[in-house]
Amino acid sequence: MDFGYSQEQTHLRKAVREFAEGELAPHTMEWDESQEFPIDAFKKAGKLGFLGPVFPEDLGGAGLSYIDYSILMEELARVDPSVALSVAAHVSLCTNHIYIAGNREQHLKYIPKLASGEWIGCWSLTEPEAGSDAGGTRSMAVRDGDSWVLNGSKTFCTNAHVAQVCVGMAVTDRAASSRGISAFVLEEGTKGLRSGKKENKLGMRCSPTGEIIFSDCRVPDSQMLGKPGEGFVDSLRVLDGGRISIAALSLGLAQGAYEAGLKYAKTRKQFGRPISEFQAIQFKLSDMATQIDAARLMVYRAAWLKDKGESVNRESAMAKLFASEVAVKCADEALQIHGGYGFIKDYPVEKFYRDVKLCTIGEGTSEIQRLVIARQLLKS
Ligand SMILES: Cc1cc2nc3c(=O)[nH]c(=O)nc-3n(C[C@H](O)[C@H](O)[C@H](O)COP(=O)(O)OP(=O)(O)OC[C@H]3O[C@@H](n4cnc5c(N)ncnc54)[C@H](O)[C@@H]3O)c2cc1C
Repeated sequence: MDFGYSQEQTHLRKAVREFAEGELAPHTMEWDESQEFPIDAFKKAGKLGFLGPVFPEDLGGAGLSYIDYSILMEELARVDPSVALSVAAHVSLCTNHIYIAGNREQHLKYIPKLASGEWIGCWSLTEPEAGSDAGGTRSMAVRDGDSWVLNGSKTFCTNAHVAQVCVGMAVTDRAASSRGISAFVLEEGTKGLRSGKKENKLGMRCSPTGEIIFSDCRVPDSQMLGKPGEGFVDSLRVLDGGRISIAALSLGLAQGAYEAGLKYAKTRKQFGRPISEFQAIQFKLSDMATQIDAARLMVYRAAWLKDKGESVNRESAMAKLFASEVAVKCADEALQIHGGYGFIKDYPVEKFYRDVKLCTIGEGTSEIQRLVIARQLLKS
């Protein structure tokens, strides 16, 4: 067992940290207020290889491992969790679904452009009536000659309004229930495909979230990803990996909040001394640091298993559940350490506190992670 980072991983962390502190940190509050997607920073991330980390180099990816990808997500989220969320949807949902289920032609057509950031991707499973119960998808795709005609509407799709490529799920065989759901790769500009309402959110505000609408959206057979009826099963595989990225995002957010709390505790004086000298504050910091360390071990274990090609269903759900709940606690305690100053927008903890709640909801709520874990426990 080896708990150390390789030299390459240390370099990667340094490079992502430099990017996040240089290109994101000066603008995070401005983007949060305006809810503006930072397209230029996103494109720069693409040029640095951060938008195709886990894909092979012959497809334009960086050929990195899931441990490396976790380091990347952690460092982005430590500074700006909303940017990290858009990267997660782009990499581990949209591009990864194409990678997992697509054929060689689809790989060559989409992955290089997504990995370089030339195109931005989104992934649309959730519907207004099908959230946790995503198998209840209602959007339909009906066969017509050698095409499919899609109708329906999706909700809560990250990057919906900025994406050139959308992987969307629709029912192709109603009688087959969740085994009748198929995946399609759809391009911006396709007639009948559009983004709808953009949500006004509590947190993660510069990551656009909203509807994807299909109205008589006709696509050729070649736009189906995988075989008919395999879209939902493939989505579950995509989510197994995706949860590692949300767990790493949660970890980075927790780390950012902790560091902000630590820094403030050392400088803020009350009763004639820094508040870090009070045991109540020290205990908060100790608990945060300990929980973050435990979350980090779980995230890297899940990533390590994924890199070995093993099943990560249980471990990624555990990592996502634990890291997201640790992040919520850390954001709360970091704000508490700031007292009243934590409640105003001049300090980063205010934003962490708002952003963090998504971590226990997106890519499966904490309750759903517990169901996934229990299913695995009861199997044995
Ligand atoms: C900012 C943001 C970005 C998102 N990005 C994407 C995206 O890119 N693509 C995409 O497809 N989706 C995306 N989602 C959707 C997200 O995955 C769903 O919101 C999530 O899966 C929960 O679904 P829901 O909101 O419909 O809640 P519901 O499923 O209605 O759940 C409501 C409550 O009931 C609980 N619950 C539901 N079923 C059970 C059960 N069986 N047992 C116990 N408790 C249960 C839930 O845990 C929750 O507490 C995003 C959501 C947000 C907020």
